[in-house]
Amino acid sequence: MTAQEANASFTLTARQELRLECPNGKPVTIRLEEGTAEVFGTELGRGRSVCVTGQKVAVFTWDGCRVSVQGEPSVRYVADDTPMTSYLNVHQTLNQRREEAAKAAPGSAACRGPAVVVVGPTDSGKSTLCRLLGNWAVRSGWQPTFVDLDVGQGTITVPGCLSAVPLEVPVDIEEGFIADLPIVFYFGHSSPMENPTLFKALADKLSALLQRRAVTDPRVAASGLIINTFGWVDGLGYELQKHVIQTFQCDVVLVMEQDRLYAQLQQDLKASCPRTTILKLAKSGGAVKREGDERRSAREQRVREYFYGTPRTPLQPATQTIRAADLAVYRIGSGPRAPNTALPLGAVSLADPLRLQNLPPSLEQLQCLLAVSHASTPDQILNANVAGFVLVKDVDTARGLVTVTAPAAGPLPGRYLLVGSLRSSID
Ligand code: ATP
Repeated sequence: MTAQEANASFTLTARQELRLECPNGKPVTIRLEEGTAEVFGTELGRGRSVCVTGQKVAVFTWDGCRVSVQGEPSVRYVADDTPMTSYLNVHQTLNQRREEAAKAAPGSAACRGPAVVVVGPTDSGKSTLCRLLGNWAVRSGWQPTFVDLDVGQGTITVPGCLSAVPLEVPVDIEEGFIADLPIVFYFGHSSPMENPTLFKALADKLSALLQRRAVTDPRVAASGLIINTFGWVDGLGYELQKHVIQTFQCDVVLVMEQDRLYAQLQQDLKASCPRTTILKLAKSGGAVKREGDERRSAREQRVREYFYGTPRTPLQPATQTIRAADLAVYRIGSGPRAPNTALPLGAVSLADPLRLQNLPPSLEQLQCLLAVSHASTPDQILNANVAGFVLVKDVDTARGLVTVTAPAAGPLPGRYLLVGSLRSSID
């Protein structure tokens, strides 16, 4: 790209979008000069610049606009063909359901707004659709709860979590979700495949907790849930998707792109969830496939942001050395489980996927991401959500000391720590 091209202006007509792939470390500045435009449902302020790095974004306009772009996106083009009108139709239907829920008799089941789940293969645009629906709902005055079950990426907090946050303002284009007090359960792995039983158990707990919260706030209840899922949709992954639909009592299932998954869900949910609406939606041509390396580096970037913040809102992580005796590290489950069919006849696998195992400090824990549980006794660990995360920087087994990095200085908010298979190589 020439220097001249590093500064460009684009005139978009109604319902066109400018797609930009902005590599990490090479900030691209977008400025709306005329008209109206939004980035995944968050409005761009006219005359104000936003700086995007390490993201693939689309500047969409309903009525036409002019945008200037500074910097060197690796890809940039204008697309005419987008599924935004069909996505907006879904949003309008959801809003009608929210209105009906808000008018229902207090305390009745009808007070509960739509519980929407987005399912589909990897990179089909699930997270983006959730973000669009969430932003549009907020802009219409609702406070939907965004639930992220995509343990492979993590939009609310670090990867490996099942988490939820009420959306009160549109997602920040530069910073992503700003979640002050998210509800987080730590699964500890980047794929539900690592421990499907634990994944189901945590999904049940998160759903129960959200139901209890909704009872106390009618507006939150009427606004409903928007649930993002993982891209594993075959075999056991499909069974887990069905479990999610049932446990969160989803009444709207949005299927991205896949006819097979759509047909399968229609068939299977007919009897168990007869009132659930299942819709198939087209994938955006802008949703780009990410290879394994790119996914790993996106995970790493999320962990880095958890500890160090973003360029606009930097954090000052603090490293502290703690007596190992003052901490207790637990793992849930005991590694990959041998199927009963692989065992001698009559034998039953003793590996319990929900078994709580107390681990002594060891060098194996170096660079592991540990969650600080809200539990006050070990038997509460399985049921407790987590307060935050630390990264293990050093383990001195001889002196019984563990050095950890936390996003802020001060004592850890709990002594029970959960470890999974997630590690990070950040300093
Ligand atoms: P995963 O399976 O990893 O959860 P996903 O199905 O949630 O993926 P997204 O993360 O929504 O898919 O989209 C994949 C990538 O494509 C993301 O980087 C996203 O920013 C980008 N993307 C989605 N829609 C568009 C668009 N219209 N224009 C440009 N980029 C887009």
